Amino acid sequence: MTTSDMTIQEKHLRLLQTELLRPDGAEHAAYILCGLSRIERDPFSGEERIRLLVKDVLPVEPEEITSADERHISWRTDRFVKLLGQAERTGLYVGIAHSHPCGPSKFSSQDDLNEAELVRLAQNRNGNAALVPSVLFSGEGAIIGRVWTSPNRFIDFGAIRTVSSAWNIIRPAETEQTGHPALSRQVLALGSVFNQTMKGLRIGVVGAGGTGSPLIQQLGRMGVGYLAVFDPDTVEESNLNRLYGATHADARDNRRKVDVARREVERMGLGTQVATFDAWIGVPECRDALKSMDLIFGCTDDHDGRALLSRLAYYYLIPVIDLGLALRVSERHGENILEADGRVTVLEPGASCLVCRRIVNPAVAAEEALKRADPEEYERRKSEAYVRGEGNPAPAVVSFTTSVATMAIEEMIQRFQRFRGSSGMIANRVRKFGQVEDFRPGAAAEPCRVCANDRIHGVGDVTPFLGRIG
Ligand SMILES: [Zn+2]
Ligand SMILES: [Zn+2]
Repeated sequence: MTTSDMTIQEKHLRLLQTELLRPDGAEHAAYILCGLSRIERDPFSGEERIRLLVKDVLPVEPEEITSADERHISWRTDRFVKLLGQAERTGLYVGIAHSHPCGPSKFSSQDDLNEAELVRLAQNRNGNAALVPSVLFSGEGAIIGRVWTSPNRFIDFGAIRTVSSAWNIIRPAETEQTGHPALSRQVLALGSVFNQTMKGLRIGVVGAGGTGSPLIQQLGRMGVGYLAVFDPDTVEESNLNRLYGATHADARDNRRKVDVARREVERMGLGTQVATFDAWIGVPECRDALKSMDLIFGCTDDHDGRALLSRLAYYYLIPVIDLGLALRVSERHGENILEADGRVTVLEPGASCLVCRRIVNPAVAAEEALKRADPEEYERRKSEAYVRGEGNPAPAVVSFTTSVATMAIEEMIQRFQRFRGSSGMIANRVRKFGQVEDFRPGAAAEPCRVCANDRIHGVGDVTPFLGRIG
């Protein structure tokens, strides 16, 4: 069975709400231009998914409306046909949004007939692969949607996700479920809606090492429904000072870090489904899994992996929370000082990417890519000092890796639950553990062609993947 959902940035959601639910009480309509993320195989359900990403909202103008009152709306479709041409050229899909200011919070039989007609129009013009998404806003505040795949078939959206600053997962007719009894104390702090949100979320953790392992522990204990863990490495003796759950036997047996993560989360018995990928995230086998996520934590320490996640956030509207920890031992006034900086950065439209924040170095990312693709050439250049090579092993202390993971989890709670208040989002935060103060560094004054380029936010599937060459 194919399932479907839609992701919309908060600015587009607000525009739709203002345009469609006006004080005049009449029905209104808008066109939505959508990018597509087609997933052949979801890592948990094994099924195909169609994820629509709203790129633009174009209200139906008063002169296009032929008649409208509080119970119906009809409008001329010449602009729809024009938009179909534009959509075909840009690889996007044209959908519609309309309102039922006086209810009902469901599509009417007239909606079914009208929309089927638009699907016929779209598929005659752009071919049978043309999809027509449709969203309905009711006066009671409900938002539901579906995507038409042919004039006689549609798939209801299992969820509508909103991103950019605050995150929400809107599910149709959410039934109050009794949560796991182990999570009742969390309900007392964060409310039952938060627990339900966690239960429905697909969260990816890229890197199951120093910062990834405490993060995975916390996600499991917060009742996250679906967890995908990506890491190509095996447990080593030198990891045991910070890898939660890992044992001496795991290091001796070269057990994969993702298998330790799965074992530890499943042992909790809180119902989290775990999918594991023991590969670098850039390989095609990881692609469907990455695209299936609602949120990704970047706990990797390579520049190329970070560069990929940084793009993914903007192309697919999947927020990425990137973590970094830098420990440096230095001498000051004859005294040995440990400089310990923990960083948490949220990547999504509206916030700067890791390149603009100078956290990812594209030159280092290119060298890492070379090392993977052509190890001999990499070694040759290293011997000739054309590439940097790896430095000494990085210092690591479990208290600091765990603190950074906790900072990242708290940012996630804020985005879904707003415990710091509605303006408490922090896109980039550095904690100086030696100073007990938080810093909020900015980004490059001239933002790049990914994070500042509205044209690619939500564009979804393109060739090459994420517009990355090589
Ligand atoms: Zn309607
Ligand atoms: Zn950027």
